[in-house]
Amino acid sequence: MTYKPGHVHSEASRKKMSESHTDVPLSESHKKALSESRMGEKNPNYGKTFSEDHRRKLSESHKGIVYGPPSELTKKKIAESQTGDKHPGWKGDEVGFATLHEWMRKMYPPPELCTKCGLNKPLDIHNISGEYRRDISDWQYLCRKCHQIVDGRHEKLLQRNKQRNT
Ligand SMILES: [Zn+2]
Repeated sequence: MTYKPGHVHSEASRKKMSESHTDVPLSESHKKALSESRMGEKNPNYGKTFSEDHRRKLSESHKGIVYGPPSELTKKKIAESQTGDKHPGWKGDEVGFATLHEWMRKMYPPPELCTKCGLNKPLDIHNISGEYRRDISDWQYLCRKCHQIVDGRHEKLLQRNKQRNT
């Protein structure tokens, strides 16, 4: 007959061992002791409010959830909403007004001096025809002063045309 380790223990000792190793529910007295240690005067937080530091940590962790950095999905959504036909400045095939100015500046960097008076640094890019063609011949780099003059003339011209038409 082969030897089995289990046979070492007697029935009685095995019973004792199994009892002590089983997950017996906590006894009532034990539970009471535990709950008492977490409540009332024995509770470390009893009778005092959260410290400022603790509150700050709590609010920070809360902010982390609500205002945390956008997830990859959110970033993608934002990017999508700002490009293509969803972009507020996007008008079909044309470049938006401000974007076109930027585009012209990029394609045709401004000269050192105003193309009209040749005295001042050109700050503005002026569209000549009002058609906003993507062609430098339709654009002028003007200093603020000349731009105002040109715009003023343009305004007068428009008013003259208006008067002529009415
Ligand atoms: Zn000028």
